[in-house]
Amino acid sequence: MSWHTLRQGFAEVCETFLHLLAPRCCCICGQGLEETVGLHRFVCRPCWDNLPLAPPPEKLYNELIDQFPGDELALSGAAALFGLREGTPPMRLIYALKYRRCWELGSELGRVLGTVLPKLLPYQLDVLIPVPIHPARRRERGYNQAEVIAAGISDTTGIPLYRNALRRRIATASQTQLTAEQRRLNVAGAFAGSAQAAAMRSANLLLVDDVITTGSTLNSCAEALLSLGAQRVFAVAIARAL
Ligand SMILES: [Zn+2]
Repeated sequence: MSWHTLRQGFAEVCETFLHLLAPRCCCICGQGLEETVGLHRFVCRPCWDNLPLAPPPEKLYNELIDQFPGDELALSGAAALFGLREGTPPMRLIYALKYRRCWELGSELGRVLGTVLPKLLPYQLDVLIPVPIHPARRRERGYNQAEVIAAGISDTTGIPLYRNALRRRIATASQTQLTAEQRRLNVAGAFAGSAQAAAMRSANLLLVDDVITTGSTLNSCAEALLSLGAQRVFAVAIARAL
C-alpha cells in the first residue's frame, strides 16, 4: 500500500466520521436538514423548488448547433434539468456534487433526471454512457460524478449503463480558462473506444454528464461513438451552464 493510498484512506475515514457527527445542511443555502433519505437530505425543498429550469431541449439543442458551425455537431439532441449561472448560489448544487464527495447526491439527481427523461428526450435510448474523467482525477475525487448520475438514471429507466464505454486517454488541461474554440480543440481526440464498442453499434446512445457548458466534451464523445458505429447520440445533464 502506497503512502498516498494510506493517507487517502485515513482522510476518508475522518470524513465519514464527520459526516455522521455533523448535521446535514442544504448544499445551496446551508440550512440544517431533517430528512435522512432521498434528495432532500442534500438540498432543502425551498432551494430545490427555486432552481431555475434549463432551456427546453429544442432551444438548448439549437444553441449547440450555433456553437458548432457546419456539420460539426455530432449530437442528435440534448437536454438538461436546470439552467445555472457560474458563481450563483444554485450552482452550489453542482459544486457539491464534484468537490464534496456527495456521490449520493449524484445518484438522487440521476433518479430525478430518469423520471423526466421520456419527456425531455422522447426517443428510443438503448444505452447510457457517462462522460469519462481522467483516472488521476477519478482517484483524487473517488468517483466519476457523470457515472453516478448515469447510475441513477439507469435505476429509474432500466436503460443499461456502460460505465467504461469511453475512457479519457490524456488528462485534458483545466477547461475553465479557455475560449469555446480552444476547449473544443483541447478535448478533441481525447477519447478512445473500449471492448463494449461492439455492443453499441447501430444503437441509440445517451451520453450523461453533470453540466453542459460549451458542449465540446460531449461532442468529442459523440464523435468517438459515431465513429464506432453508433446510430445516434444524445446528451443529458443535470445543468446547462448559462
Ligand atoms: Zn436550501
